[in-house]
Formats: sequence, structure tokens, C-alpha cells
Amino acid sequence: MSSEVDTDRLAHELRALGDSNLIRPRRTVTPVSATEYLVDGHRCISFAANDYLGLSQHPQVLKAFREAASLQAGATASALVAGRTVWHEQLERRIARFEGTESAVLFPSGYAANVGTLAAMVGPDDCVFCDRDNHASIVDGCRLAAGKMFVYRHNELSRLAAALHRRRSQFDRAFIVTDSVFSMDGVIAPLKELSRVAEQFAVDLIVDEAHATGVFGPTGRGVCEALSVTENVLIRVGTLSKAVGTLGGFVAASQSVCDWLWNTARTQFFSTALPPAVCAAASESLRQIRRDLDRAARLNRICRYARQLLNEVGLETIAGSVGPIVPILIGDDAQAVSLSERLLRDGYFVPAIRPPTVRKGTARLRLSLCSEHTPEQVESVIQHISKIL
Ligand code: PMP
Repeated sequence: MSSEVDTDRLAHELRALGDSNLIRPRRTVTPVSATEYLVDGHRCISFAANDYLGLSQHPQVLKAFREAASLQAGATASALVAGRTVWHEQLERRIARFEGTESAVLFPSGYAANVGTLAAMVGPDDCVFCDRDNHASIVDGCRLAAGKMFVYRHNELSRLAAALHRRRSQFDRAFIVTDSVFSMDGVIAPLKELSRVAEQFAVDLIVDEAHATGVFGPTGRGVCEALSVTENVLIRVGTLSKAVGTLGGFVAASQSVCDWLWNTARTQFFSTALPPAVCAAASESLRQIRRDLDRAARLNRICRYARQLLNEVGLETIAGSVGPIVPILIGDDAQAVSLSERLLRDGYFVPAIRPPTVRKGTARLRLSLCSEHTPEQVESVIQHISKIL
């Protein structure tokens, strides 16, 4: 009886979501190439993936995956028990070398890396200051942590400094946590200024480089490298699921931080380790990023070209947005959804991003660019959006 009531309630709430244009379709996607997919069987140029360097389909990456997969499909246990294979160990070493840190720890996903790290670092006598637009995994990690969470307005450092001035002395350790690239608008955090605030108030910085690894910085380490603040950051969190083209999260940090997370981060040790083949593929992918920096340069060129075209056709993107996340502000949820559906029918896969992912009234189309997109593909989608609008 009670399950019937629950079903009714869920059906009612789902209808309400539908009425507010907040129902998410469950699409099925088949890759054709790095930039083309079948979406529910319909061929499209895709601007929806986070595969910024096209490495998810790189022949050497796939070869590394196949070789490891021929021996073992799953890791069979948590990394702490029997799940840390030679491929995990090799990947940890490669990440540490790639990031220039003493050590690295793997997590099952970037989501798990943020949640596990924040919950393990922010103790009961500590506090954490979290940018309002941080990714959900950061917000969830802050909520789960035993310490106090303060939310500051997006990139507003004077408010952050004022809050620290008022509160800092009440806590033992304090942290500031921020995305380096905000995932829904492509805006970069002012990491230089944040480092100064952090130093002034004796606060440790935690930076999520999920959308920046492989994309920003002279050697692809991310925005911390691009802005020369790596030394000021205690913990860099990353994911292997975006430019690296595979799956998994990581923390790159000092030996002592990594040892602490290895021993206390619950999302790391209460979950089965990544499949070995995924680790082998991610190691190869990081190798490719480093040996072929031209991919990132190509991506950069296509991103600049897209923004120039948007400007020419008079489409509004978000101020300060750079790199492969190119938002086109629409505002109204229903209009964003209907535009995205119309684009799909016309052969372009461009997702509509709505609340709660973004704030109410700021629904948008989000183009995700890849180094393998051709200028013609980018021209055609932007011209098409401009024509429809
Ligand atoms: N951080 C940010 C900023 C993200 O955008 C995402 C994924 N959307 C994550 C973390 C989570 O990464 P993963 O997909 O590897 O769980």
C-alpha cells in the first residue's frame, strides 16, 4: 500500500518537473568518430562530450585498454584490499609525474575524488569556503564534511576576504575550494587573487581542475599551471573522464596529503578500484597529452574561432568564458529545451543546461568543443543556431 502512495507521489512530482521543462531525456549515444555520434539512432555532429582532445578514441589509448582488458575486466576489490593492480600503480606514478607532485591517489570518479577529499580534509574544528557555482561534487563533499561550510558569491573575492576576516579565528584549519574552470560557463577562477587571500588568512586551497587538465597550461596541467600558482595550492583534484577520455578521479598533492587520503577518504576505500584497463588507457592518454601538445593548441584555436564567430553573429556568451566550454545564454528553460531539440533534429547535438545545474533564469545551450572539430563543423552549428534564434 505504502509503495503505491510513493509511486503516486513520484508520478506527481515527475509531472511537475515536466511542466517546468526539467525532465531529462534518457538518450542513447553511439560514437561514429570523435565529433560525430548517433543520438537515438540519428546521426549528429556532437557538441556535447567532454572529450576535449578526442583521446577517448585514440588508437594507442584503445590498444592499451584492450591489452589490459585481455587479462582482467574488473579490479575485484577496493584498492586498499586487492584492487590496486600494476596498472593502478603505474597510473598513480604517471599522474604524479604529469602533475609534478610527490604523489597521487586514484578515486573511482572525479565526483568521488571531490566528495572523499573534502570529507577527509575538513575536520570538526575546521571550516571550508565554497564558491557558489562550484560543481555538485564539491558542494556535496563540503556538506558531508564534519566542519562548517560557508558559501561565497561566485568569484567575489572581496566578500570572501570579509567573511574570512570575521570567521577565520573561530576555526582550527580553514580551506577554500574552487573549480578552476566552472563547468557550466567556462569561466576561470581568479586563482592568483585567491592564493593571495588564502595566504593572508592562513587558509589552504583545494582546486578542482576537472575541465582544465590537458587543456590549460604550457604542459597541460591546468589553470594552476597557466597562472603559475601550483605551489600555492595544497590539493589539486582532477578527473580522467574529460580531456583524458577515460574514467576515474585523482588527487595530486604532497606525499603526506596523499597518504592521509589513502587511509581516510571513504569514497576511495569503500568502493571497488577502477578497472585495470581503464587505468592502462588513462596512463597512455596522459602520455599522449604530453607528447602531442599540438592537440591542446588545436583545441585552443578552435575555441577562439568559435567565440569570434559567436561575436560576429551577435550571440551572447557568458563574460569571461574561455576554453572548450562555450555557453550560449538563452534564459528561459522551455526555450533552451526546444532549441536543443530542434538542433538535434537538424543534426547537431547541443545540450540544454537548466536548473538545478545552473541558476534559475540562466538556462543555456552549452557547446563543448574538441580539438578534432573542424572549422566547418563549428561554423555550421553557430550559423544554424543564429538562424533559428
Ligand atoms: N568536477 C567538475 C568541475 C565536473 O564538471 C565534474 C563532472 N561533470 C566532476 C568534478 C566529476 O567528474 P567525474 O565525471 O569524473 O565524476
